[in-house]
Amino acid sequence: MEQLCPRCHEQQVAKSSTSNAGRHAGLIGLLIANSAASYNCPACGKIPLAEFPEEFQSGVKRKRTLSILGAAGVFALIIVLLFVREMM
Ligand SMILES: [Zn+2]
Repeated sequence: MEQLCPRCHEQQVAKSSTSNAGRHAGLIGLLIANSAASYNCPACGKIPLAEFPEEFQSGVKRKRTLSILGAAGVFALIIVLLFVREMM
């Protein structure tokens, strides 16, 4: 998702995670890292999501909701598979 910086309107912001821990901590870490992610402008630094236009904010929130739902779906599937295996 490309978005211009709301402060300088010149640079494109890049999504950045506050730490790399999420990548190594599995599903839960991924969810935490995802919800804690912020955006960085090469010129202005870290920009809170609240400073972006409403349209961009709702897009980010929708994406987050979808990724959380997807992760929850995978998690539920694993539980079901384990449960089925227990029954056999
Ligand atoms: Zn900027």
